[in-house]
Amino acid sequence: MIILALDALDKRMVEKFNCTNLMQEEFGETDISQFTLEKTVIIWASFLAGKNMEKKIEPPVYLNFEKNLLKLANKIIPSNSKFHSLSPFRHENFLIKLYRKFRWYLIGSRVWNFRLSARQTFLKFFNSFKVIDLPAFSFKEKNHRLERILLARFFENESFLNRYEEIVWKNHEENKKDFLNSIGKYDLLIGYFNLADAIGHLSFGIEYKMRKVYYELNDIAKRVQKEAKDDVLLIVSDHGMKAVGRFGDHTKHGFYSINRKLNLKTPKITDFYEIIRNLHKMSSS
Ligand SMILES: [Zn+2]
Repeated sequence: MIILALDALDKRMVEKFNCTNLMQEEFGETDISQFTLEKTVIIWASFLAGKNMEKKIEPPVYLNFEKNLLKLANKIIPSNSKFHSLSPFRHENFLIKLYRKFRWYLIGSRVWNFRLSARQTFLKFFNSFKVIDLPAFSFKEKNHRLERILLARFFENESFLNRYEEIVWKNHEENKKDFLNSIGKYDLLIGYFNLADAIGHLSFGIEYKMRKVYYELNDIAKRVQKEAKDDVLLIVSDHGMKAVGRFGDHTKHGFYSINRKLNLKTPKITDFYEIIRNLHKMSSS
């Protein structure tokens, strides 16, 4: 079985650009209304685990907040610094300043570094698997960190857009090469591609950029269909995207597409756990 995990792939855009390889025997929207917010890591984790992982991944921030902050302070402040002998009150003031500066690091990296073990996911049903770059499992934090930094810089200065897109496409090419080389070598191969999300957030309203993205993703599906004809191919996204001026924002519906007739009707993203398990059972018996 092969799963193409395409972040932010949107059904209306697939149809608009007539991406025939993304529209397989059966395709449609998924239901993600069970989540308070359409957050990438949470939805992929829930897809893998077959249940809503929202509360596990984002407990109230303050629970871990102080502990993480102290950890960070101990890491970046030399051990002979006065800081370590300050009164608790002044400690706190300093920590608040530190928090304002590193808020992104503390909260962002904790969420993006969330990892499930294979035993907590449908991966355990397969004899061999490879999962490339999927959030909540094998996400390449280092590769994507630069993306997030450049994305933030864009809002200070638009000239960062080119460098941002360069990094996004470079990361994409790395995953694509690895993915195409892995076809046929595992019981289950999952390739994650964030192109539609990463380019869409800053340029969803710029048609030629989005067309290039959708053609590229369509082409990856085409390659799979050519090289692994009889294999089950599931294409799935975490959420869709809608235009907000030139920008893009997440929507309440994801996308799925499968080269089998299953007659699913707007399945929940968490339903795929059992669907994948059954498809695997059928193909191996
Ligand atoms: Zn996403």
